Amino acid sequence: MARRFTDKQLVIASHNAGKVREIADLLAPWSIEVHSAGDLGLPEPEETGTTFAENAILKARASTAGSGLAALADDSGFSVAALGGAPGIHAARFAEREDGARDFDWAMERLHEAGADAGDDQAWFTCALALAWPDGHVEVFEGRVKGRMIWPPRGTMGFGYDPIFVPTGHEVTFAEMEPDAKHTMSHRAIAFRDLIDACFDPPA
Ligand code: IMP
Repeated sequence: MARRFTDKQLVIASHNAGKVREIADLLAPWSIEVHSAGDLGLPEPEETGTTFAENAILKARASTAGSGLAALADDSGFSVAALGGAPGIHAARFAEREDGARDFDWAMERLHEAGADAGDDQAWFTCALALAWPDGHVEVFEGRVKGRMIWPPRGTMGFGYDPIFVPTGHEVTFAEMEPDAKHTMSHRAIAFRDLIDACFDPPA
């Protein structure tokens, strides 16, 4: 049995504004005071894990240690079958230029040039969510959504690789969907649903 979450405060262990916004949106029905690792000035740990789950645990535990509060971390990424699942856990680093700035237009262009666009189910997003408590306990959940990588990119909503991803069974990219629509089907939403079922009571 997973441990239930009954704390009043929670740190979202991320410095990525897009992710923090999505997770805060998903948590909105629960009256929890939500902080982000960025707002609290918590350091970002090095992502030395070899799986999404390992990296999510690393990030959640770093925020718990730095804040004394429970923390929820997301480690996620975009994978394409034509590239053997790359960039996968390295999706953020794949978009980093030499000065460390992230440039997703450039990252998407490089995927396209590498021959990554293909048919249904040949691309996917994965999300691992780790919820860590200050006493060291952790619960982990993983979600995946399959689709196809299209070219050229379309849409201006969302973040990261959203403009090149069309989920299977749909015609629009994640970046063309209203956030509420993305939240019903995304890798993050799937992992989140499992987390809520396992660890949260229904919202009051
Ligand atoms: P990390 O989990 O912070 O190491 O980075 C994951 C990276 O994967 C993000 O910076 C995005 O580039 C990409 N990513 C994860 N989830 C999404 C999503 O929902 N849409 C678009 N890109 C995503």
